[in-house]
Amino acid sequence: MGEERHELADDLEKARLLGLEYVVVHPGSGSPERVREGALKALRLAGVRERPRLLLENTAGGGEKIGARFEELAWLVADTPMGVCLDTCHAFAAGYPVKDAPGEVLSELDQAVGLERVPVVHLNDSVGGLGSRIDHHAHLLQGQIGEGLKGVLLDPRLRGRVFILETPRSPEEDAWNLRVLRGWLEETAPQQ
Ligand SMILES: [Zn+2]
Repeated sequence: MGEERHELADDLEKARLLGLEYVVVHPGSGSPERVREGALKALRLAGVRERPRLLLENTAGGGEKIGARFEELAWLVADTPMGVCLDTCHAFAAGYPVKDAPGEVLSELDQAVGLERVPVVHLNDSVGGLGSRIDHHAHLLQGQIGEGLKGVLLDPRLRGRVFILETPRSPEEDAWNLRVLRGWLEETAPQQ
C-alpha cells in the first residue's frame, strides 16, 4: 500500500503539472479506511489543490472488492475533494440493472454519491452478465447491456459529462462505436 500510495502521488503530480482535469483510479483492495487515507495522502504529497480532481471508479466486485457498491464509493469520497467515475460495465457486473433500468441505476448513484460528484462516465458494454463480477468490457451493442447504455448516455441528469469509450482501439472498432453513438444521439435530436 505504501508504494502504491507514492505511485498515485506521482501520477497526480504529473497530472497537476500537465494541467489535466481528472485522474481516475480504481479503489483497489485492502480496507476502505486505508484506501481513503492513501488517496488523501497522495493528494497532499502531489500538492494538488483544485486540479486534477481524483475520481474513484466503481469496480465490478470480483478481484477488486472495494468500490463495487455505490454506498461504499460515497463513503470513500465523503468530505473530500474526490469524485466518482461511473463505469457502466463494472456497475452491471456488480449487479446494477443498467440494461433494464439505467435511469434507476443513475437515481441510486445520485442518492448515494450525488451525480454532481460524477463528472466522468466510462461507457462500456459488458461481456459478463448482470452480477457476474466479471470486469470485461465489450463494444457498444455487442455485450449484455446493449441499448441500456443509450439510457445512460441520454439521461438529462448527465448532460455535459465526459463520456469515455474504453473498448479496444482499432480504426474499425472505433468506427463501429462512434456509429452507434451517433445513431443514439441523432435519434433524440429532433426533440431537443
Ligand atoms: Zn473504466
